[in-house]
Amino acid sequence: MTAPPCRPSSVIFFILAFSPCAFAVGEYEAARRDMIEAVNSMVADTRSYTGLASLDDKVMQAMAAVPRHEFVPAPLRKFAYLNDPLPIGERQTISQPYIVALMTHLAAPDKAAVVLEVGTGSGYQAAVLSRLVHHVYTIEIIEALGKRAKNTLARLGYDNVTVIIGDGYNGWQEHAPYDAIIVTAAPEQAPQPLIEQLKTGARMVIPVGAQYQYQSLQVLEKQKSGKIEIKDVLPVGFVPLTRGR
Ligand code: SAH
Repeated sequence: MTAPPCRPSSVIFFILAFSPCAFAVGEYEAARRDMIEAVNSMVADTRSYTGLASLDDKVMQAMAAVPRHEFVPAPLRKFAYLNDPLPIGERQTISQPYIVALMTHLAAPDKAAVVLEVGTGSGYQAAVLSRLVHHVYTIEIIEALGKRAKNTLARLGYDNVTVIIGDGYNGWQEHAPYDAIIVTAAPEQAPQPLIEQLKTGARMVIPVGAQYQYQSLQVLEKQKSGKIEIKDVLPVGFVPLTRGR
């Protein structure tokens, strides 16, 4: 038997299938599926803390859709789909995928929600949220990170995310009140301005505790009476919420 003649279409197929770019895309997709499995298995392992057997399907679909490798520095791309935090420069980290999924689930925003994130970092958490809600406002205190996240989000077409550089301790009064607030750096106590910018019935998900000491991931829910109900969900380790840069 002789090999069939090599027609132009099969040449193009060969180039596409085996070029480094196409290979990488397929690799990332497989890695992303593994990441989703790792997140699900950690959800099961931490059930005794969180009381959650699984996370919202829509949250997991958003996790499965966002290209995390685009949010990490190029040399670390091969690690982008490990269920681990990774350095993003400026001594900051992109959160562990499990934590991003858990915080998004706990905030429970709906499609019409306007959400505030404090601590943009790489922009990854904002990208996951943006697939589930109407608009995400996100604040980053380190200018270089905020600018990079803004570019990444714009390049990938996440056009319902607005990034601002500033101290998120004070929230962003202009767009308040929010349907949900997610804070991805740890203060010693939930900032009062953020509590004030939360809608009645809405939730803030926030790690609370002193730097390098015990921190608790908390859900604060604003009751109709104005009272704040606090639930401790999980012991965590976040970078500190810094002030006044
Ligand atoms: N959500 C990010 C993870 C961010 S790590 C992601 O998905 O990649 C926490 C971030 O909070 C860091 O980038 C840090 O610079 C930022 N941060 C710390 N204190 C802050 C403050 N007061 N206001 C806004 N951002 C702050």
